[in-house]
Amino acid sequence: PAREDIHYFGAGPAALPTSVLEQASKDLLNFQDIGLGLGEISHRSSQGQGVVDDAKAHLKELLHIPDSYDTVFFQGGGTGAFAAIAYLFMKYHVAKYNRVGQANYIVTGGWSDKAAKEAVKLLGESNVQIAADTKKSTGSWTSVPSPDELSLSADPAYVYYCDNETVHGVEPAADLYTGIDAPLVADMSSNFLSRPFDITKYAAVVAGAQKNVGIAGVTIAIIRKEILDAKIEPSILQKEYGLPVAPTTLDLSILAANGSLYNTLPIFTLHVTDLTLRHLIAAGGLSEYGKKAQEKSAKIYSVIDEYPELYQCPVKKDCRSEMNIVFRLAGGDAQEADFIKKAGALGISGIKGHRSVGGIRVSNYNAIQDQSVDILVDFMRSYAKAE
Ligand code: PLP
Repeated sequence: PAREDIHYFGAGPAALPTSVLEQASKDLLNFQDIGLGLGEISHRSSQGQGVVDDAKAHLKELLHIPDSYDTVFFQGGGTGAFAAIAYLFMKYHVAKYNRVGQANYIVTGGWSDKAAKEAVKLLGESNVQIAADTKKSTGSWTSVPSPDELSLSADPAYVYYCDNETVHGVEPAADLYTGIDAPLVADMSSNFLSRPFDITKYAAVVAGAQKNVGIAGVTIAIIRKEILDAKIEPSILQKEYGLPVAPTTLDLSILAANGSLYNTLPIFTLHVTDLTLRHLIAAGGLSEYGKKAQEKSAKIYSVIDEYPELYQCPVKKDCRSEMNIVFRLAGGDAQEADFIKKAGALGISGIKGHRSVGGIRVSNYNAIQDQSVDILVDFMRSYAKAE
């Protein structure tokens, strides 16, 4: 089939605007008429530096990032960011207060659970506080705790949460946790740039590029400079405080101090991110995308709720994700396989739920067109009527 015939709702790597990929293909062969493609030149060349500068500037423009923040691009993925955040914020806390603080985690799904487990692995159980875990308190990851339900420790080095649980379809309302009196860290891997947010309410925001802002291979961290600049001798951190020291590739302070070019950065991948950022700016910015995400997801949730005897979304209404819409069919695995097959005949793809939870997952990232959503919603309605 041709690209236009496919309505791809995959969770990531996700669909991108065709115009972005067309430009990227040209630049992979011959960038700015230098006779070489972007995958072939040094990250330290003037063109490589230009890509880093452009991506940073466009992100700054889209999110109104103030000068008190720095943006780091690196290769660790969302998973690498779990570790990078734990190292950075514990170091900052010790440098600032001369004592070890606790890493606090709000667990609302599989990704925040993984992040919390990574922190336990690196920092030790006694340095990690699980401020909430909805699977433990309610039996499933289908809701979010309110700020007053959290058991925060007395001396939090940071409070970490996942702004959109990609597998479980849980997305807290914007600003639910931004009033917490501690450095707040959000994993926005799967809803980054899907709607506007105020970066100044966060100590750090991290996101892999491969959903709304490009292809896999680049991870983005936007961090308050004061935190990046905290200094303490690694040997003191280890010997006096018993804390681990970050490997260089995950040391966000070193990466920031070197303008994200301490070691080789995948420049072509970052260029795809930059082209996507330009596309978002040209299409009206994040308010526009926020409105669209809301409208598109509302259409899908409304068909789910229209046929409760067939479709069930397990997530509570106040935290249903606008990016990853998860639901089950009454007939379980067999009926879901039939649903996926019949959807496939219409060009609808990428809707199988994550292997850990099964069911159906429709991802509604920025590149998903209204027309694709309409085709999906019409299919869901006719499928329900035929059952
Ligand atoms: N956090 C969230 C919310 C994710 O959706 C993912 C991956 O899908 C990750 C973290 C892990 O990212 P990576 O696979 O790049 O390590």
